[in-house]
Amino acid sequence: MADYTLPDLTYDYGALDPHIAGEIMELHHSKHHAAYVAGANTALEKMAGARDSGDFGAIAGLEKALAFNLGGHTNHSVFWTNMSPDGGDKPTGELAAAIDAAFGSFDKFKEEFANAAATRFGSGWAWLVKKDDGSVAVCSTANQDSPCMGEAVAGCSGKPLLGLDVWEHAYYLNYQNRRPDYIAAFWNVVNWDAVAERFAA
Ligand code: MN
Repeated sequence: MADYTLPDLTYDYGALDPHIAGEIMELHHSKHHAAYVAGANTALEKMAGARDSGDFGAIAGLEKALAFNLGGHTNHSVFWTNMSPDGGDKPTGELAAAIDAAFGSFDKFKEEFANAAATRFGSGWAWLVKKDDGSVAVCSTANQDSPCMGEAVAGCSGKPLLGLDVWEHAYYLNYQNRRPDYIAAFWNVVNWDAVAERFAA
């Protein structure tokens, strides 16, 4: 099986300035995301070794490390495509209709999403997800849990459409402890075309 690899960004590290500083983007992508990729590959490698030696105790611990790092890898992979230097504005078409149906208006959606991001205690993510019935919903997950892991594990389920990383590593250099300012700035760089593609896929 092929190793997991760090995806390239489709824009420069500094492209989201001043909303998200290039220094943050570079550290976040080349160090933090890279560490999740390396961690997932290491967990798989060690798991193969533990299987070979029949060490089931080790496998149980490695499962947790694998889920954490793989969650980090998939969450960040969505996050990078959710942003663009040409972002901002608002969704259109079927995605806009689904947001209006679920929240009443785009502004109400933004309010709910921002609230989910602001009130996620400690580290985690805020999400706009697509449910099995095609509707959309807002939720948040802890640490590197993904909505893909399902309700029982992540407390949130559905296909991730838009994710906002609210770990301090995502905003501290720009905003220090002012998470709400980071959340407000995020709207300026959201790539709604990419979100709509995920919704339609
Ligand atoms: Mn992160």
